[in-house]
Amino acid sequence: MNEEAELLRQRGEPVIHLGIGEPKNRAPINAILNSAAKLNSGNIKYSPTDGIPSLKKAIIEYTEENYDKVVEPENIIVTSGAKQAIYNILYTLLNPQDEIIILSPYWVSYPEIAKMVYGIPVFVTPEDGSLHPRMEDIIESVSSSTKAIIVNSPNNPSGLVFKEEFIKEIVEFCEKKQIYLIMDDIYHKLVFDGKKAVSCYKFAQEDINESRIISVNGVSKLYGMTGFRIGWAIAPSRLVRVMTNIQAQTTSCASVILQAAAEGALIGMQSIVENLRLTIQNNRDIIMRELRSFNGVKTTEPDGAFYCFPDFRAYEPDSVKLSEFLLKKALVVTVPGKEFGMEGRLRLSFSGSVNDLVEGVARMKWALDPSSPNEIYIGDKKMTRDWL
Ligand code: PMP
Repeated sequence: MNEEAELLRQRGEPVIHLGIGEPKNRAPINAILNSAAKLNSGNIKYSPTDGIPSLKKAIIEYTEENYDKVVEPENIIVTSGAKQAIYNILYTLLNPQDEIIILSPYWVSYPEIAKMVYGIPVFVTPEDGSLHPRMEDIIESVSSSTKAIIVNSPNNPSGLVFKEEFIKEIVEFCEKKQIYLIMDDIYHKLVFDGKKAVSCYKFAQEDINESRIISVNGVSKLYGMTGFRIGWAIAPSRLVRVMTNIQAQTTSCASVILQAAAEGALIGMQSIVENLRLTIQNNRDIIMRELRSFNGVKTTEPDGAFYCFPDFRAYEPDSVKLSEFLLKKALVVTVPGKEFGMEGRLRLSFSGSVNDLVEGVARMKWALDPSSPNEIYIGDKKMTRDWL
């Protein structure tokens, strides 16, 4: 779909992209200065495989400040994006045929990474109409082959922040059953309306090195630094050693220039994250307002991240068909729910501009809702709807 959208754009068509998962901000100045200083030094060599000590120090401070959790350098591995951290973790934990529980709707890469390391993804889906998983369904899906559960809150694609009680139950369950709990916290500070994404560490009883909790983080989303490709995992030291072996034979280390950028972001002004959060929250309010006036679309208000995941089944149950239709007729890019393991929905990203959000939803309404006016301007062309 992205390729098709790109082709249309190259032909000069006024495509609106509600599919992209990255903020529009400029990189934080401290990230730019720190990486530029490293580049100017001319001393650009390999770094230790698990990350440069000064970045690890910044991650230790970040973890203490944001999670109230004290970790040591040997609990941290710096990776080329959170995605590589997740890959390293699953490679470390899963033997062929081991199972990992993935909560639907899920980030598209979880099952793909699990399959790449010959693991078996086991999906737990909420009751129809809900986006929140139920603990009893998770317990039921655990087998003797279950090695890990992965939790992402705030969630991509739903924007849901999991309830505190749920996090407590899942931590207690994993500690009791000795199942690894991977928490993908890449959006953890992008939470709205004064709410908080509760961390698994809050309920963990075990010492970090005995623990089964692994957290994943990075600078991609909170600092809008997707192109810098720096993430990290925090885990028991015995696992970090294995992950380091894996990384040693894949990428050797994350680039020192980009690690310097991430360090700059972490030790620089944190108001950048708050400003981004406020912008995104405002965007959330705008897209929700537009969607609420869209007859037939069922919305659940996102509490975090920058996605919403409305239910379009009243118009079309097949999300791939619907997404293709919207691109063709309305020149709006959306991501089909099917890719996240939940049919009948579309993921709409609200990390872009306010104009795109308003116009994007207006075009969708025009294409789908017979009660909306049947003429619209797309770019400078007046379009008439002749299919409803
Ligand atoms: N986890 C989730 C839930 C994501 O949405 C993404 C990015 N789309 C990642 C991890 C990967 O982040 P990074 O850019 O740091 O690899």
